[in-house]
Amino acid sequence: MQMFEMAKQRLTDTAKLLDIADDVVETLRYPDETLCASLRVRLDDGSVKSFKAFRCRYNESRGPTKGGIRFHPSVNMDEVITLAFWMTFKTACVDLPFGGGKGGVSVDTKELSKRELERLSRAYVRAFSDFIDEDRDIPAPDMYTGGIVMAWMADEVAALKRRPMPAAITGKPLPLGGAKGRTEATGRGGFRVLEVFQDKLGLDNGATIAVQGFGNAGTVFAQMAAEAGFKVVMASDSSGAAYDKDGLDIEGLIAHKSETGAVTGFAEDCAAGDLLKADCDLLVPAALGGVIDEDSVERLNCGAVLELANGAVTAKADAQLVRAGIPVVPDILANAGGVIGSHSEWVQNRTGQYWGLDDFNDILDRRIQDSAKETLGLAGELERDYRTAAYALALKRLNDAIAAKGTQRYYCED
Ligand code: NAD
Repeated sequence: MQMFEMAKQRLTDTAKLLDIADDVVETLRYPDETLCASLRVRLDDGSVKSFKAFRCRYNESRGPTKGGIRFHPSVNMDEVITLAFWMTFKTACVDLPFGGGKGGVSVDTKELSKRELERLSRAYVRAFSDFIDEDRDIPAPDMYTGGIVMAWMADEVAALKRRPMPAAITGKPLPLGGAKGRTEATGRGGFRVLEVFQDKLGLDNGATIAVQGFGNAGTVFAQMAAEAGFKVVMASDSSGAAYDKDGLDIEGLIAHKSETGAVTGFAEDCAAGDLLKADCDLLVPAALGGVIDEDSVERLNCGAVLELANGAVTAKADAQLVRAGIPVVPDILANAGGVIGSHSEWVQNRTGQYWGLDDFNDILDRRIQDSAKETLGLAGELERDYRTAAYALALKRLNDAIAAKGTQRYYCED
């Protein structure tokens, strides 16, 4: 089954649990708009190369569509639509006034020069300029698109609109209207969610954690967990894994990685593949999607999973984990700190009022903690797993927005 069809099954299943109007399910069954374009880029050797590019505005019932742009060779329309569908539920789960969107280009950025990457980024904005706007569709970084790509994109938006419109792109560098705290927001949000779920997951403060992906999200999460007294026993990146049964020195590991570019060579070295098998109380996938699938799930040796990476657990593996009684804190809640931070950046750009780090973090903490508590409460009420509860919370909010304009029930009653 295609990725999107599998993701959508969640909508049908969740709607059955709640009093959701058929019109709402029908509205959410397909994206509002999806565009596909060929980006023709002049390469440094004078030749022209075409790159397949996509942008999906999945649903705008709750506000302008919001979601990152991914530059990766495996990007395809099915993946982009699925990620936009997840964003729709993520923004609703944490009650932001946004819908869900996503974009991507099928490209290996390692094969491009800096100038070629800039031309590609600007070409993306021109191709999807009917979508990109502070009130319509607001991109952000995702895999292999960081601050500089957002800077080029924001510049291209300004050229096309003939005025600066910084709120049309989030994840910008600080001098261009980026928000203090945005870079750390995903890992920080994930840790705040863990604090709310800690007792339910049976984790005491000395509990052991393994983090797959010592990048942006994984590093900040590990840092906050270690500071709080958790033992981060294993952390991996694409080079391999570092292990210490008594808990890694996370600050030391961060310094080592920034010096050497890898987590290996710091503590006991293991293969990257060993991480998913690590004996730990909490497993935190924070690298790639689809890593916990129907095969790897059999080899897990953890008490619970906190899904920082989008779609780290496949639908089939998720069902197996539910059956095995291993709780999963789902991505649409666990990594929502990133989009909450993007919303704060958008608000600051639109009002022209820039906040200090403490204000940014207070707003992030409060919103994600409230959403985590609501998800926990709903899981208890519905007697269902946390992923179902997070989707139920989001679907209730989407239902409220869509049904407020009238449903079949409204039009047919006398
Ligand atoms: P990143 O590129 O900073 O870090 C990813 C890390 O994963 C890198 O250290 C890389 O070496 C490592 N990695 C790659 N392949 C690996 C493998 N096979 N085994 C172990 N490690 C491997 O990315 P990030 O921004 O931290 O994002 C991580 C995940 O979180 C992604 O799935 C992303 O979609 C999700 N996410 C990020 C944000 C954000 O704001 N950064 C927001 C929402 C979701």
